[in-house]
Amino acid sequence: MNIKKSLISGIVASVVTCSLLFSNSALAQKDWPTKSITLVVPFAAGGPTDSVARLIAVPMGQTLGQTIVVENVNGAGGTIASTKVARAAPDGYTIYLHHMGMATANALYDKLPYDPLTSFEYIGQVADVPMVLLGKKDLPPKNFKELEAYIKANGSKITMANAGPGAVSQLCGLLFQSRLGVKLTNIPYKGTGPALTDLLGGQVDLLCDQTTQTIPYIKDGSVKAYGTTTLKRLPAIPNVPTLDEQGFKGFEVKVWHGMYAPKGVPKPVLDKLNAALVKALNSPDVKKRLEDANIDIVPSKKITAAGLKDHLEAEINKWGPVIRKSNIPD
Ligand code: ASP
Repeated sequence: MNIKKSLISGIVASVVTCSLLFSNSALAQKDWPTKSITLVVPFAAGGPTDSVARLIAVPMGQTLGQTIVVENVNGAGGTIASTKVARAAPDGYTIYLHHMGMATANALYDKLPYDPLTSFEYIGQVADVPMVLLGKKDLPPKNFKELEAYIKANGSKITMANAGPGAVSQLCGLLFQSRLGVKLTNIPYKGTGPALTDLLGGQVDLLCDQTTQTIPYIKDGSVKAYGTTTLKRLPAIPNVPTLDEQGFKGFEVKVWHGMYAPKGVPKPVLDKLNAALVKALNSPDVKKRLEDANIDIVPSKKITAAGLKDHLEAEINKWGPVIRKSNIPD
């Protein structure tokens, strides 16, 4: 009898605890956010990914009523940051902005401590950014044809900067080397922000970088632009031919971005994050600033969890075979 009684009171107590926990967590989700949110960026401050993140962090924070603090977690082509976010508490106070490196890292590393398809929640796609193949100002070749001959003659004496395996600068640079059949000396940086500084200073010869920071330097001749990674010329730099039209048929690297959270963030919190992202990307100020840097905002149906997940899956399937076939050197 006593045993029965204590069993019943035990069950009652755990039901009460469970429902209290449930209502506490429902309440927490309803009130979220009650403190600042960290937006992790996988590359150095001052670079293109960082710029996109900072541009949207402010208006998103205004919508949510809390500050969004950008944290740069650099290194290993973005995989250190991805690992950190995958292991963060799923409470909505850590979110993540990454680019197409989320889809390519898998094929570049033997084993990653996270799975791009199962370790994260999806908030939405953000923006697409083209890239340009750049040379330091006093690199002798004046155009792409001359650059090809110069590379064939000098090979590994030429240095090419990138942001590590998994970074788009590395992918673009190495697809380029694979097409030429030449291995250059590849130098990893913590992001293309510091890599661009060294290109401008003449410490490194080549860099493939997003247009975000590079257009003014191309226009004023501080760097040489050998070709864009788009299939059409870019309106902001119409004199720069595409790599495709200069003989590298189909050479297209468009850097798409997505916003993520650790797996397990409750749906109501993800919905609030998504609404804030959509609102930020539709604000006239953000639109204008993205346009000025040649960044394309994606259509609304892509600024959704499903839009990002579908795109990520398609990109993993697209780049895996390309990367493996390219036999990309280190
Ligand atoms: N461009 C990126 C950045 O530094 C890094 C990369 O993927 O190359 O923001």
